[in-house]
Amino acid sequence: MSSKTLSLCVALIFTLVAFAPLASACDTWIAMGDSTYNGRILFGKNSDRPPFDCQPLIYNPQQFWGANATLKLEYIEIPQVGYTYATIGASPYWCYGYEMGMNEFGVVVGNEAVHTYALEQNKLTPPERGLLGMDMLRIGLERGQTAREVMDTITLLLETYGQWGSGAPGQDDNTGSYDNSFIIADSTEAWILESAGRDWVAKRIAEGTDSISNVISLQSDWDEGSIAEGTNFKLLYSNEADPVSLSGESRELRSQRLLDQYSADGDKVTLQEMMAIARDHEVSVPGICMHPIPMLSDSVSAGSWVVSLPSKQGEFIELWWCAYFPCQGIYVPAFFTPYGFPDIASNAGTLGKSVSAPNDVAPDEFKIDSYWWLFKKAADDQMDDERRTSFNSLEQGFIDKLDTMRPETEHLFSSGGWSLAYANLTLFTEESMDSTLSLLISEKLSGIDTESPTITDLKPETGISLSDNNLRASSLFNDNVKVDRSRVRIMLDGTDVTDDSSISSDGFSLNTILNGAKGDAHDLSIEIFDVAGNKASMNSVFSAGGPSGDEGETPGFGAIALLSIVLLAFVVRNIKRKK
Ligand SMILES: [Zn+2]
Repeated sequence: MSSKTLSLCVALIFTLVAFAPLASACDTWIAMGDSTYNGRILFGKNSDRPPFDCQPLIYNPQQFWGANATLKLEYIEIPQVGYTYATIGASPYWCYGYEMGMNEFGVVVGNEAVHTYALEQNKLTPPERGLLGMDMLRIGLERGQTAREVMDTITLLLETYGQWGSGAPGQDDNTGSYDNSFIIADSTEAWILESAGRDWVAKRIAEGTDSISNVISLQSDWDEGSIAEGTNFKLLYSNEADPVSLSGESRELRSQRLLDQYSADGDKVTLQEMMAIARDHEVSVPGICMHPIPMLSDSVSAGSWVVSLPSKQGEFIELWWCAYFPCQGIYVPAFFTPYGFPDIASNAGTLGKSVSAPNDVAPDEFKIDSYWWLFKKAADDQMDDERRTSFNSLEQGFIDKLDTMRPETEHLFSSGGWSLAYANLTLFTEESMDSTLSLLISEKLSGIDTESPTITDLKPETGISLSDNNLRASSLFNDNVKVDRSRVRIMLDGTDVTDDSSISSDGFSLNTILNGAKGDAHDLSIEIFDVAGNKASMNSVFSAGGPSGDEGETPGFGAIALLSIVLLAFVVRNIKRKK
């Protein structure tokens, strides 16, 4: 078949597919170390979901569980294990699981909805409801240290509990159920795992590039499985007549063609090319970036990840997260650290985050303190070239900054300076999200936030006389969206002491020794901005008690209070999440 004829056929398929409602699509693609510019495995996924299916970025710390603990999922409750590993993931607002996720050992997983003959059989004779693909993905990450272990966990779950029950909010089981396929990768290998009902096959990938979409792709070329050796899995189970399979077939071809193009003639796949695949809008075939077609298709690219996995000791996991349409969004660095993410990244809309059977949940709605919803709102009008240019330059700035941070950070990880390395990466995540939100609001959402931030609990209060010259100052910040950490300014007696202070978007603390004699007046001034540029300021005038010891103050009293607000904020956040 000539390439022109092929293009026409594919365009025809797209036209047909466009007239079918797609409950849930997705694309996942991978370039192994031999095919990438930096020798690291690069992983990409677009999560295609209903347009209101908010999927914030969630951090779940490692946790011990009681002997008889159970895990309550959307439809069933299963025994919990004694200990679960720390994970992060893009998690729909009603869902326990992740559309794409990663664990503390650097295993990353993305899943796909596949429509199979086993699914058709279930529609005719519905079995007991079981697990969703997203649940298997997260539970696998909580229980496995390597790609292999995560895969073994998922196949065991699949064989034990099966997969049936709507995986889309507001849809009944027959409309919203789907079988699942996965790419599971760690620093050394990747697996393509495809399932139909309780059957599955898996193929190991050690080199080159690969991709999956909403269609069974493995034929007889699998390495392990639950079915008889040599069986053609695609022939046995793929429901090619299903419009989701048709769309998946052409998108899988498309992502593989792009990977082939980027790695042809000795070329290597770059991070930016992985992002370009997510943003693909080829005219003659369905692009990888999915947009809604009103009244025809309700599946949109609601989030995207590009992950760069470590290839040697000292290297760290790099996650680039884009909320909502990749073609209209910004990939922001979101580092996997014990400190989690800024709250705004993990906030859903008006319905909040829960674990609920999706067929009973209402559509989530816009809330201004949700990073995901702000990007969705911004994407609802069209992107123009000027905005795309400024978004691109911000994104490239993050990539460049990480390049400059990498040597020192890797040195810290190699030499045991983990806590400082994680703190630096957490700060980079927070500042990148602040600048992304600032640009989004100024370029696309101007006027959406006119509410000023507030400063409360400023200490010392005006009029206070300190007992000595030890100053322990602090205050809390609040905003309806987010305080921009990088624009906080703390002035003491006209001198900028911002760099001497611990600062987060939730507040600041400063411990210092004042100059001067007893009774001298001092002035502390705070100025903050939110990410929309609204300002607040406050000051306090107080007097010092003179050099330490004058009034018999117990030396060292302040040491206990040195826990910074930054640390406290993280602790409180993590405790909240554990509940
Ligand atoms: Zn797009």
